[in-house]
Amino acid sequence: MNKAGIVSENSENIDALQKQLQQYAEMQKLLLEITQRIASSDTLDDMLPAIRAAVQRGLHADSAIIVLGTDQADVGYAVGDDRSPSFGAAGPALLGYVAQNGAIEASDVSTDAALSALNMQIKGLLTTPLMAHNIRQGIIALGYAQPHTFSSDERIFLALVAAQTAVAVENAHAYEVVHHGQEQLAAILASTADPVIVVDAQEAIVLLNPAAERALGVESKTVSGKKFGEVINVEPLLELLRNPANRESLEWQNESGQTYAPRVSDINTGESRRRGHVLVLRDITRYKNILANQTEFVGTVSHDLRSPLTYMQGYATMLPMVGELNARQKDFTDKIVGGIAQMTDLVDKILDAGRLDPETGYYELIREPCDVVKMANEVITNHLQPAEKKGLKLIGDIDPNLPIFNLDEMMLKRALNNFVDNAVKYTPEGGTVTVSAHTEGGSLLLKVADTGLGISEDNIRHLFERFRRVRRKEHQKVKGSGLGLFIVKSVAQKHNGDAWVESKEGVGSTFIIRIPMEGANMIGAESKADPKLAKKAE
Ligand code: ADP
Repeated sequence: MNKAGIVSENSENIDALQKQLQQYAEMQKLLLEITQRIASSDTLDDMLPAIRAAVQRGLHADSAIIVLGTDQADVGYAVGDDRSPSFGAAGPALLGYVAQNGAIEASDVSTDAALSALNMQIKGLLTTPLMAHNIRQGIIALGYAQPHTFSSDERIFLALVAAQTAVAVENAHAYEVVHHGQEQLAAILASTADPVIVVDAQEAIVLLNPAAERALGVESKTVSGKKFGEVINVEPLLELLRNPANRESLEWQNESGQTYAPRVSDINTGESRRRGHVLVLRDITRYKNILANQTEFVGTVSHDLRSPLTYMQGYATMLPMVGELNARQKDFTDKIVGGIAQMTDLVDKILDAGRLDPETGYYELIREPCDVVKMANEVITNHLQPAEKKGLKLIGDIDPNLPIFNLDEMMLKRALNNFVDNAVKYTPEGGTVTVSAHTEGGSLLLKVADTGLGISEDNIRHLFERFRRVRRKEHQKVKGSGLGLFIVKSVAQKHNGDAWVESKEGVGSTFIIRIPMEGANMIGAESKADPKLAKKAE
């Protein structure tokens, strides 16, 4: 080869090299352009047409399409150009083909039966799946009007673009899901009638819905990000946020008179780290008003019924005085008197339940020196006859050395009476009822134990609530109001004590009143010195 030949060969090589370098530079520029486009776009509408155009330009293709979806039946989105020659309507079918057979590289599709059946107007075809985290997101396909042999550079370029596009599609989907979820949540919270406040672990306000703005008289935009305690000056709500336990019955009334039942739930992350709290204020104003009206109505009616019942009982018991009654007349008057006694008991219980209600009741204890031994023995004596009538053994186990207390004797007697009434009512024939009174651990314990049917754990939990009655066929005929135990507990609580039941189904129940032996329940030192009060019960 002569010198001139070598020079021309070298310059040809240099030309080819230069061309290749130029191509590399161009592709690098396009890749950068695509990366920037992806970084600056939020939506697929924004991003995919630009990527499609860039890849078509970069690889000098006559058409390019991007089809999203996992297979042919699931095409979510497609962008393509309608320039001729085009892919026609083959996008979904190509997606299905790639899903089954993997990437396609065909220098001339007309030589392949399956591909030519797709009726595309192209010859050269390069198709790559869009894969992110091993999940198929769709395909990107390039078409050439003439048969085209693909270089490894072209394949690599398309693979690079496909990898970036797949991640971007995945991110866009995730963004849409989150964005949609956020929008939904915001709409739900905005239309929620109950005030909702979200605070983070440092008690800074993260979210406050319009109902909360109205209830608390603050503006979301001015309090957001600030500490709850600094901008919302409601001590009970702050306390509830800090210590939600044991505050189930908390109610809060705002300045305009609305009453709310606040509840707090923790927001935890997967690693069970506390991220903050959600405070929901349930508006219970309407229920409070209805309850107050009902209580007032029932109270008024019961009060008005009390006097006629007293007359009726008086006159019915006086009937034998105005003339001797025959056996049938006596039987009828007994029934009338029994009915009146039942009605009186119910009316009294309704009145007591209203007066002792922890929220609305106005009853103030009438404390007086109380000889518990005498009081308990009276209750036992009053029940000897009914117990005997029912075939029950009634036993007293009263510590004779109990001190004189300072209690509302009338109410406490009614409470103990109710326990013994129940034990007699609910214990089947042949059973035993034991009434005991003794001191233990600094408290007076009044217990009524029976050998009845017992009460299930589920029922025990709610037994002392107003109007609670356990439905069981053995007690179908037993009459009652479901108010007795509510009254007992209220009486005990008014004395700073409590009332509860311990029971085992099939074995029996023990109902207990605990009165702490301290404070107002005890007679002061001077009064104790008074020999009259210090006397022990006989
Ligand atoms: P009631 O007027 O229905 O007796 P209470 O409030 O006094 O109302 O009692 C509530 C319910 O508790 C009763 O209906 C009964 O089902 C149950 N109960 C009370 N005492 C006993 C007992 N000693 N044994 C079994 N069940 C009882």
